[in-house]
Amino acid sequence: MTTEVTSRVALAGFRRILGADAVLTDHEAMAPCLTDHRKLYEGAALAVLRPGSVEEVAQLLAFCNGTRIGVVPQGGNTGYCGGATPDESGRQVVLSLARLAHVRRIDPANYSLVAEAGCILANLQREAEAVDRFFPLSLGSEGSCQIGGNLSTNAGGLNVLRYGMARDLVLGLEVVLADGRVLSTLGELRKDNTGYDLKSLFIGAEGTLGVITAASLKLLPRPRAIATAFVAVRGIAAAVDLLNLLREASGDRVSSFELIPHIAVELTTRHIPGIAEPLAGEFPWYVLCELSSSRAADALDAMLESALRDAMDGGLLDDAALAQNERQRAAFWRLRESIPEAQRIEGPSLKHDVALPIGKLARFVEEASTWIAANLPDAVLVAYGHLGDGNLHFNVNARAGTDPLRFVAHADEVQRVVHDLVASFGGSVSAEHGIGRLKVDELVRYAPPVEIELMQDIKRALDPNGIMNPGKVLKVAP
Ligand SMILES: Cc1cc2nc3c(=O)[nH]c(=O)nc-3n(C[C@H](O)[C@H](O)[C@H](O)COP(=O)(O)OP(=O)(O)OC[C@H]3O[C@@H](n4cnc5c(N)ncnc54)[C@H](O)[C@@H]3O)c2cc1C
Repeated sequence: MTTEVTSRVALAGFRRILGADAVLTDHEAMAPCLTDHRKLYEGAALAVLRPGSVEEVAQLLAFCNGTRIGVVPQGGNTGYCGGATPDESGRQVVLSLARLAHVRRIDPANYSLVAEAGCILANLQREAEAVDRFFPLSLGSEGSCQIGGNLSTNAGGLNVLRYGMARDLVLGLEVVLADGRVLSTLGELRKDNTGYDLKSLFIGAEGTLGVITAASLKLLPRPRAIATAFVAVRGIAAAVDLLNLLREASGDRVSSFELIPHIAVELTTRHIPGIAEPLAGEFPWYVLCELSSSRAADALDAMLESALRDAMDGGLLDDAALAQNERQRAAFWRLRESIPEAQRIEGPSLKHDVALPIGKLARFVEEASTWIAANLPDAVLVAYGHLGDGNLHFNVNARAGTDPLRFVAHADEVQRVVHDLVASFGGSVSAEHGIGRLKVDELVRYAPPVEIELMQDIKRALDPNGIMNPGKVLKVAP
């Protein structure tokens, strides 16, 4: 097939492969797919394509490869880095995975399931629960993000401390390559050392190397005992000490350990109906921590209470509330999960998704917040996140009444200061949200040159015509 076809020829090709109904060209129908969750980017597209089978994905990619049409895979479109949004040229297509949403197999005895990429994460959690198993990946966006998107961003979330990132939950993948070939490693094996681990290349690749169409995933025993507490800690260093104390005292049963500053409690109680302050007093830093065990008989509440008492005696915390029932547990989690939405309602915010060695978190926050206080009087720091994983969402919000445009004009300067500081502490400028379009230059700035060269080599080998999600993650000439 020759390169560069007219839009008319391209659309005729898509309709031939998919049928007319699965090729959206109407602006209103396409609009939700042309902008990202944070409204940072607004793109244009030749069409939004909605294949219903792996074979159709394969035919589409072969066609796009031959005609040099850029393909932007899109899952639930909840990503934070603009990775699922097409550019402004109108020459790319969005490839929606929404119709590939079947669970192909579930095998409780093997603790595994095989799901298509378009399965909504919360639905997979429910499917696992229905056979008395547990799928531990859990994010605030789980009601709309898809497992294909989770794997393509190597999502983290609330249970990484215990169960790892999305990557750690994968046994195998089915991927359609840029030229339309299908790579299937959908086995359900836990051991397979036969050569290079190819599936790993596509996890966290943000759609730049191929389209994930299905995944074979690990399941775990269901947690049957859970204890949750909302704790007022005496600063971040004390929170880290508390984490270590809890891990030891509980036989490593800590599954979540989330840092929450007082400002986040204030924003959620102000903006989200039904959220109340969990503790009576006002404290600068809190931790939402959870222990879990698959043994129903484990007395986790007593274990947590006793460990918190020791921590209080040791000067690590000022107060704590132990969830007394499911309703209270859900209320603690609702507060935590509502922070991004409360921040959005409050006004513009400059977001940084960073990771640091846990022992350096306290010093990092101290140095970064000192700089912000001295240089951005219109700003308020909302630093929260997955402390147990060393991952902070180091967000800087505009104070009420600040001119949003003037505030956002500081974005580049603040990012440079925050990311340089992160790098100086040996951290990462993208902990769990990926690179997308937002951090392409940041990756080049902070990654070692050899790493970039190898990534470019891999990209050229798997996608020589550069059709897969062009302009995302890496800049690379075909
Ligand atoms: C309220 C809220 C809370 C969040 N909390 C967290 C959190 O705790 N942890 C975390 O890690 N993230 C979090 N996120 C970010 C986001 O939900 C994750 O990045 C998620 O994994 C994206 O999944 P998605 O299906 O929406 O992917 P999309 O946004 O559609 O796509 C993300 C990237 O993956 C690519 N892609 C999507 N599907 C495929 C596929 N099948 N094959 C190849 N490439 C594909 C896209 O091209 C794009 O580059 C949160 C987002 C929101 C809105």
